[in-house]
Amino acid sequence: MMYAHRLDNLPPYLFARIDAMKAEKRAQGVDVIDLGVGDPDLPTPSHIIEALVIAARNPATHHYPDYAGMFSYREAVADWYKARFGVELNPKREVLALIGSKEGIAHIPEAFVNPGDYVLVPDPGYPVYKTSTLFAEGKTWQMPLMEKNAFLPDFSAIPSDICKKSKLMFLNYPNNPTGAVASLSFFEEAVDFAKENDIIVVHDNAYSEISFDGYRAPSFLEAKGAMDVGIEMHSLSKTYNMTGWRIGMAAGSADIIAGLGRVKNNVDSGAFDAIQIAATEALTASQECIAHSCAIYEERRNVLVSGLRELGFEVTAPKATFYVWMKVDNSMAFTAKMLNEAGIVVTPGTGFGDAGDGYVRFAITRSVERIEEALERMRGVFA
Ligand SMILES: *Cc1c(COP(=O)(O)O)cnc(C)c1O
Repeated sequence: MMYAHRLDNLPPYLFARIDAMKAEKRAQGVDVIDLGVGDPDLPTPSHIIEALVIAARNPATHHYPDYAGMFSYREAVADWYKARFGVELNPKREVLALIGSKEGIAHIPEAFVNPGDYVLVPDPGYPVYKTSTLFAEGKTWQMPLMEKNAFLPDFSAIPSDICKKSKLMFLNYPNNPTGAVASLSFFEEAVDFAKENDIIVVHDNAYSEISFDGYRAPSFLEAKGAMDVGIEMHSLSKTYNMTGWRIGMAAGSADIIAGLGRVKNNVDSGAFDAIQIAATEALTASQECIAHSCAIYEERRNVLVSGLRELGFEVTAPKATFYVWMKVDNSMAFTAKMLNEAGIVVTPGTGFGDAGDGYVRFAITRSVERIEEALERMRGVFA
């Protein structure tokens, strides 16, 4: 079969290889502890499921949805942004429903990137920033996220000719995979940089609600001038344990939202209304369920981080996200050793970009008991 060049140009999908290795271990009878997947193990809160069941029984939801999303859902998003971040959004023009934020990330370059234009992407970063750019025939410029810069990009290190040729920049804080967070002043710096260079900022805020130790993550849209230069991709996936539901939102500059909407009108027909109704329930009902999830992740984080430190590893306790980013000698060798000798899946940093070399990512999407079991096995291998 001859595939199009655009498929040949995609970077090898490391995660597919890890899945195959994991399946092989399981077939050998190994009780694999999977700390690789960025998918909550906790169920969707029951009040959200109940809302879906009722909505799905109503035949009015069985038709093609509105392209931009139900107005009531977009209003709920706007109200949630106001309550949570103090950000005012016009639900008609500044909010768009997404079939998960990955969908919005995958489509946004189609609206703004011409062949040969540059897109600035964090390295390490969520792989879709790069592949969506390649699908739009753009080029990526990797912004290394380095520990000495608190895993924030250094805009002054980007060559000025690249800045001139750049159309879009992806940012993501709280960050996957490093667990790093950004302050409002960093976002303001990003706005200034974007204004100077006429670059659209797409901030991915998938983890804004997953935080610990009293930390509350800001929205990019809180930064002065952000609404002029950017949008935020957000999602209910991580916040309400709804990864399988496929529902998210884009919010911000009306012109950028309109561009994304024009692409979407031609490729999808929106998210199932019953899911939008359940998502509206999630955003408007009590937010107690989020605190409950965060308390569970926080305990797991504490157990994992202190266990790793006892083993002599250098690791920072993340303030947000459900990832622990740890320094190792060699990402691939460490990952292979963990799987082969301890039956534990972690993700090598190189899966997120070249600058992820020398790190691995643990996802704390498994119970405290399983994390303790993983640490016990690691003691056998590394002590
Ligand atoms: C999980 C994740 C997403 C995608 O979430 P969906 O809304 O489920 O598509 C986007 N960005 C990052 C960084 C993620 O980790």
